[in-house]
Amino acid sequence: MANFVLRVPNNLRSFTVSASVSSNGSPPLSSSGSSGGVGGPVILELPLDKIRRPLMRTRANDPIKVQELMDSISEIGLQTPIDVLEVEGVYYGFSGCHRYEAHQRLGLPTIRCKIRRGTKETLRHHLR
Ligand code: ADP
Repeated sequence: MANFVLRVPNNLRSFTVSASVSSNGSPPLSSSGSSGGVGGPVILELPLDKIRRPLMRTRANDPIKVQELMDSISEIGLQTPIDVLEVEGVYYGFSGCHRYEAHQRLGLPTIRCKIRRGTKETLRHHLR
């Protein structure tokens, strides 16, 4: 949060403008980093190792797709965040497998995620 005081000529009033922008230009998020209990999905950069991928070993990625994504992400960055489910503060990824692997292979520490909050029941549904 930054406060700016704009001083204008004497015949006009001075006033204060409050801007809610963090140092990296992103909107402020709750200090827990959680997607919160209300509202829709939240877009956040998450460390790759904070995202559990329970189905990772059951599906093989297409290596050509991964290479193409690596080339594209290096050049223009990730254009569409991967979908992540948050259950009781733990993050789960079930899709976005090629984008996730492309980030891993590029050695990127974080990935942009669209985080939705769910319950244990939602998680069970995904694991079925
Ligand atoms: P994934 O398993 O990651 O969903 P897909 O090959 O099925 O892989 O889809 C790739 C997705 O990555 C597409 O939805 C595409 O829009 C998205 N995408 C995000 N960033 C990029 C990028 N820089 N270059 C190409 N595709 C990208």
